Amino acid sequence: MHKNSSISRFEPIPQAYDYIFCGLGASASLLILALHHKNLLANKKVLLIDQALKNKKDKTFCFWAHHDEPIALQLKPLISKSWNEVEISNAHATNISPQAYYHVDSIHLYEQVQVLAATYQWDKITGEVNTVSNDGISPFLLLNQSKFSAQTIFDSRTPRPLPLQKDQTHIHQSFVGWMIETTEEVINPDLFKFMDFEIDQQDYTQFVYVLPFSNTKALVELTRFGDTLIKEQEAEEILAPYIQNAFGSYKKIDLEIGCIPMSNGAVENASAEGIVNLGARNYHIKPSTGYAFKNMFYHALNLAETLAQNGDASALNHTHAKVFSTRFAFYDGLLLHILQHRPSQGKPIFTSLLRKVPIQKTLKFLDEQTSLAEEVSIFYQLPWTPFLKALLHKTMGKSWFHAGILCLLTLLLLILGTYTSVQKEIGYALLVAGLLVVGIPHGAVDHLLETGTLDLKKTPLFIAKYLVWMGLMALVWVYSPMLALLSFLLYSAWHFGEADGKKWRFSPSFSLLWGSSVLLYILGTHAAETTAILSSMKVIVSIPSLPLWALLPWAIWGIINKQFGFILTLIWLSLSSALPLLFSFGLYFIGQHSIHGWKHIQMHLNWSHQKIWLQALPFHAGAWFLLGLFYWLWPSAGIAQDSSPWGLFFIFIACISFPHVIAMHGMYKKGS
Ligand SMILES: Cc1cc2nc3c(=O)[nH]c(=O)nc-3n(C[C@H](O)[C@H](O)[C@H](O)COP(=O)(O)OP(=O)(O)OC[C@H]3O[C@@H](n4cnc5c(N)ncnc54)[C@H](O)[C@@H]3O)c2cc1C
Repeated sequence: MHKNSSISRFEPIPQAYDYIFCGLGASASLLILALHHKNLLANKKVLLIDQALKNKKDKTFCFWAHHDEPIALQLKPLISKSWNEVEISNAHATNISPQAYYHVDSIHLYEQVQVLAATYQWDKITGEVNTVSNDGISPFLLLNQSKFSAQTIFDSRTPRPLPLQKDQTHIHQSFVGWMIETTEEVINPDLFKFMDFEIDQQDYTQFVYVLPFSNTKALVELTRFGDTLIKEQEAEEILAPYIQNAFGSYKKIDLEIGCIPMSNGAVENASAEGIVNLGARNYHIKPSTGYAFKNMFYHALNLAETLAQNGDASALNHTHAKVFSTRFAFYDGLLLHILQHRPSQGKPIFTSLLRKVPIQKTLKFLDEQTSLAEEVSIFYQLPWTPFLKALLHKTMGKSWFHAGILCLLTLLLLILGTYTSVQKEIGYALLVAGLLVVGIPHGAVDHLLETGTLDLKKTPLFIAKYLVWMGLMALVWVYSPMLALLSFLLYSAWHFGEADGKKWRFSPSFSLLWGSSVLLYILGTHAAETTAILSSMKVIVSIPSLPLWALLPWAIWGIINKQFGFILTLIWLSLSSALPLLFSFGLYFIGQHSIHGWKHIQMHLNWSHQKIWLQALPFHAGAWFLLGLFYWLWPSAGIAQDSSPWGLFFIFIACISFPHVIAMHGMYKKGS
C-alpha cells in the first residue's frame, strides 16, 4: 500500500506495524535518521502519516554546537551553512569557535526521510489523525475511521495546549523573515547577526536576526516575543528600512512566517504504553527561547539507544511536572512572566545578557549546562528589578502564599502571649484595619454584583429588598433566637464554604462540608467563649468542646491530594485555636473568607481593587450607620435590654449577612 492520497473511510487495514510515525516533522525525521544510523529499521514494518505532504521547505532550523558534537557530525550532510563569527546586538563581532551556529533547511531533512521510505518501501498516508491511544493490547491510532495498530507509535502531532494554571505563562515567538538578494556584494557571509535589539520595540520585545548565505543573499528576520503575533505589514515597516540601511538596494526573494509557542503550560499528550511522544509534544521547545532542534536530536539519539537495547522507549516520555521542576524551568518562568507583563524589559535583559556575559557562557546557559555558580555570575550582570518583581508576583500567586501569611500572623499573635494586653492591642488594631480594608467592603458591593454597575433605577429597589431580608432575620431573632442561631450557622457555613470551595475547586456539597467544619471548629475550640457570647444573644446552650485535632480528616485529604496551601490553612487554623475567639474568628473571616470573596468579586466585576473599594464606600458607611441605629433601637425597643455589646454585634452581623449571602450566591451561580 504505497500511496500519498487519503485512504477511504472504512478501508480495513489488516496488518499491524512495528512502528508508526504519526507526524513527520522535525522530531520524527530526526528520530528516523537516528534509528537508521543504528540500523534499527531493517526488516521493520513502518507506516508514515502526516496531514501535510512534507514536500516543500516550511522551516529553517538553527542551532549552536561544538564542531565535534554528535549533532554537528551526524547532521553534516544536511547542514547548508554554519557561522563562527557572531555579531550580538550591534556589538563587535565575536568568534564562537570551537562552537558554530548551524543552519538546516527543513526540506533537506524531510527529503532524507522520503529517500529512506522509498528504500525500505514503507507505507505512507496523508491524513489527519485525531486519536492515538492504547486499547489494552497495543497502541493504535484512528484515521478516517480506520484503526492502525503498531508495536510502537511515535506521536509528534502538534500538541493542543491545556488550560493554563495560575502561575503559568503562554506567549508567542512570532516572526517574519525575508530572504533577500542585494544589488551589491555587501554582505559578509561569515558573520551572522544574533538578536539585534536596536529597532523600535513598539511596546514588545522584538529583534532582528541576519543569517547571511553569500555576499548578496541573507535571511533577515524580525522576531517578536509577546502576546500579540507580529503582522506582515508591521514587519515590513521595520524590515524594509532596516535592510535598506544595512545593505542598500535589494530584492525580496522569499518569505518565512512562523510562530513558536513560548510556554510553561501543559500540553495534551498520551502517556500510554507503546506511545512515544516527540518534539513539541514531549516538551522539547525551550520556553524562553523557542529553540527545540538540539533537544529533539539528542532525544532521538536516546530513543535509538534505548530501542537498540530492547528498552521501553515510552519511558523517555516527559511529563509536564518533571520538565518544569528544574531550576532552568524556574528561570524560564520568570523571564516569560516579564516578557508577558513588562515586555519593555525584554530588551535591557537580553542586551545585558548578550553584551556583558561571555557568549560561550550564555550559550552554555541556554543549553541548561551551567553550574549554579555560573548562573549566579550571569544573573549578576542582568537588571535585577524586573526579576525581583516577577519573583514577588509569582510567589504571591502561589497557592500557599496567602495561607503562609496567615500562619505568620497567627504565630505573631501567639508570641505576643495569649490574652495579654499587648496581644489585645495589636489584635484589635489588626481586626479594625482588616474590617475597614476588606471585611466590610467585600459585603458592600452586593448591589453591583447583579448589574455590574451602579444602576440608579435598580439600586433603591435592591436596598429596599436588602433591608426587608435584614428585617425578617431580626424578627426571627426576636421570636426564636435558637432558630435564628441555627439559620445563621447554616447560611454562614454555606457562604464560607462557597468562597473557599471556589478557590480550592470543591464541589458544592464538599464546600458546604468544609464551611461547616471550619465554622464549628473555630467555635468548638473556643467552647466557653462561644457559650458566653451565645447566652448574651439570648441563646442558652452549652457548646461542646472540640479537640485541636478535629480537622485531621481534612489534613489527610489535603496530604493525599497534595494541596499544600490547604494544609497550611489547617495548620494556622489549629494554631489559632489557642488565640481568643475573636482573633481566631477574625483571622478566618477577614484573612481568608473576605479576601477570597473580594478576589472573586474582582474577577466578576473586572475592576481595580481601588475602584471596587471606592464604589463600596457609601454602602460601607451605610453598614456602620445601620450598626449604630441597631445599638440604639434594639434595646430601646425593649427587645433585649440585657444583651451585651458583643451579643448585639453578632445579632446585627447575622441580620446584615443574610442578604449578603444570597447576593454572593447569585454571583457564584453565574460562574464567576
Ligand atoms: C517556523 C519555525 C522555525 C523554527 N526554527 C527553529 C530553529 O531555528 N531552531 C530550533 O531549535 N527550533 C526552531 N523551531 C522550533 C521547533 O524546532 C520546531 O517547531 C519543530 O518543527 C518542532 O518539531 P515537531 O516535530 O515537534 O513539530 P513539527 O516539525 O511541526 O512536526 C509535526 C508534524 O505533525 C503533523 N501533524 C500535526 N497534526 C497532525 C495530525 N492531527 N495528524 C497528522 N499529522 C499531524 C504536521 O503536519 C507536522 O508535519 C522553529 C519553529 C518554527 C514554527
